[in-house]
Amino acid sequence: SIDFKWIRDNKDAVATNIKNRNSNADLELVLELYTKMLEIQKEVERLRGERNVVANKMKGKLEPSERQKLIEEGKNLKEGLLTLEEDLLKLTDELQQEAQCIPNMTHPDVPIGDEDSSTIRKKVGSPHDFSFPIKDHLQLGKELNLFDFDAAAKVSGSKFYYLKNEAVMLEMALTNWTVFEVIKRGFTPLTTPEIVRSSVVEKCGFQPRGENTQVYSIEGSDHCLIGTAEIPVGGIHMDSILANSQLPLKYVASSHCFRTEAGAAGTATRGLYRVHQFSKVEMFVLCQPEESDSYHEELIRIEEELFTSLGLHFKILDMATADLGAPAYRKFDVEAWMPGLGRYGEISSASNCTDYQSRRLGIRYRPSEPPSSTPKKGKGNIPTQFVHTLNATACAIPRMIVCILENYQQEDGSIVIPKPLRPFMGGLERITPK
Ligand code: AMP
Repeated sequence: SIDFKWIRDNKDAVATNIKNRNSNADLELVLELYTKMLEIQKEVERLRGERNVVANKMKGKLEPSERQKLIEEGKNLKEGLLTLEEDLLKLTDELQQEAQCIPNMTHPDVPIGDEDSSTIRKKVGSPHDFSFPIKDHLQLGKELNLFDFDAAAKVSGSKFYYLKNEAVMLEMALTNWTVFEVIKRGFTPLTTPEIVRSSVVEKCGFQPRGENTQVYSIEGSDHCLIGTAEIPVGGIHMDSILANSQLPLKYVASSHCFRTEAGAAGTATRGLYRVHQFSKVEMFVLCQPEESDSYHEELIRIEEELFTSLGLHFKILDMATADLGAPAYRKFDVEAWMPGLGRYGEISSASNCTDYQSRRLGIRYRPSEPPSSTPKKGKGNIPTQFVHTLNATACAIPRMIVCILENYQQEDGSIVIPKPLRPFMGGLERITPK
């Protein structure tokens, strides 16, 4: 449930936030619809009251003419109510639809501006010095027989691929190693449904339909393919009240992700970099509101540990307001050096969504102590609050394959497998030309 009263009471701050985040949300329209909704709600209440008065009068002894008059009155009230209730439903729908576009509020430390305003929090490692001419992952994959894009183009279309030979083992090893590493840090492993209801996609803050949607929807149904495991994991606890003692809930989910990549045409994205289907290991945390900033730090620390273990050079960015998307309150991206592409490329993203998703998904918890602002009540009456949700990429497989091939290429055309992955690849140390 979106807090429209809060939005109305903090109109200026919300308007500034919408502007900073380059969002096309229409705050004036939302507030207008909200005011209208309150008016109709009031009128509905008034008519319901009148209808009850009439119903009570009917219980008494009445002259036939008087009874007839009351019957007429009751009928008119009922018809009026039906029309108003229909209007209210339509208006509520419209309001929810418009309000979907209003972005989450923003952490005060987030840089204001577009992508170029994002700041670097940290740089880890340094780019590898190669003493021979380097190749990109496409050329390496071709020479080592690791992918087939041509066959995938015939079977599925562009931006699809077959992985072959050691690349298949590499995908599985990356998934398994990452999941084990994150489990070690106290997370519960999951695989998830990859087809979900559109309403859940919407409640997580993504647009399931429309022109520029990233989401594949299934014709003739109200279902979509997931773009990220964040959606089914976010949905696990929807419409429930968690006990304080259950928090934090930390999940690590392995899934496929499907993205239309609408609007990505023309961007320099060859090979595995931007594809329609990929595997990803995702972390997801549900926690008490006062702890979400520190879990955000924990998530970015885990990412840093994982990418350092894999020997990558990367930078961690505090993403600027216009690049946050609607649900995030703050977002840290990691960009790793991809020598073949000759640039840094995004490999992960960690977002604190505060109560943006939990309000829409209806995920509450019951604190053991009431917040200090509420008057003390009996223990059973402690009001529930919305949890905070956070999500972070532990490993987006295709981009990690790009990183590994390009960073670990050798002069003889072979690829050295990063040490932590070897036990998950039957001890394989190198991919060598056949
Ligand atoms: P996001 O959920 O959009 O933050 O994406 C998480 C991570 O998945 C990104 O940091 C990328 O590493 C990866 N990713 C996103 N979109 C694609 C894509 N179309 N193809 C391959 N990897 C992707």
